Amino acid sequence: EDNSKVDFDYFYLVRQWPATFCNDHFCTHRPPKKYAFTVHGLWPQRRDGTWPQFCDSSSELDMDEIEDLLPELEKVWPSWSSDDETFWNHEWTRHGTCAEGVVGQQHAFFKAVLSLHNKLNIQEAFEARGIVPSNYARYHVQALHHALDDAYGVMPHITCDDKGELAEVWMCIDKKLRPIDCVEGPHPHRAAKLAASSGSPAGSAHDSS
Ligand code: 5GP
Ligand code: 5GP
Repeated sequence: EDNSKVDFDYFYLVRQWPATFCNDHFCTHRPPKKYAFTVHGLWPQRRDGTWPQFCDSSSELDMDEIEDLLPELEKVWPSWSSDDETFWNHEWTRHGTCAEGVVGQQHAFFKAVLSLHNKLNIQEAFEARGIVPSNYARYHVQALHHALDDAYGVMPHITCDDKGELAEVWMCIDKKLRPIDCVEGPHPHRAAKLAASSGSPAGSAHDSS
């Protein structure tokens, strides 16, 4: 077995809030008015803050392989700034190829992401604590942490943009695809973002109207 494909400790399951992404990037698809967190990716990660990436330069995403998953992928894992296929191919080649030893081939990888995304419903967890999207309400990052801890028994990482708008929710997932606490010391690259997001209240993202 190719060691590069199991050489990590856990995964980040990364979901994004589209409106915040589109505040900071040029979006070709404007998120609909009523939208939800969408998937960014499932990323193999090491406890020391490093991660493997691009583990098989010969592997490209084959859309035929994931044909049965397309309706669901288009719904929950759209690209807001390019086309879906390019985004999925990027996520597969950069991160998915490194997960093969644990999750399996492309079909298994995308299926695993969809299954985790459905099982770990961020929006439901937030709503259960009265945390709903608003242009006006501001929420403390700790309240968002607690909402996910209540719902799933684990602590996530939450990132905000420079304006304090909710950007991404990172949940940690073990190699048996079960949620675990995110406890590692932040990688220097992440430290700034994490500090920025824990210091100030997290505003909820804008709607696109
Ligand atoms: P950025 O520099 O925009 O934070 O990250 C660029 C890309 O690097 C991300 O989309 C992701 O593919 C990868 N990346 C950034 N931080 C991490 C990390 O902490 N762990 C992993 N596995 N990938 C990361
Ligand atoms: P990562 O940061 O995961 O390595 O890379 C994400 C890449 O996909 C970037 O090049 C980004 O521009 C592109 N991309 C296309 N659509 C989306 C989207 O909806 N969300 C995010 N986060 N990246 C997207």
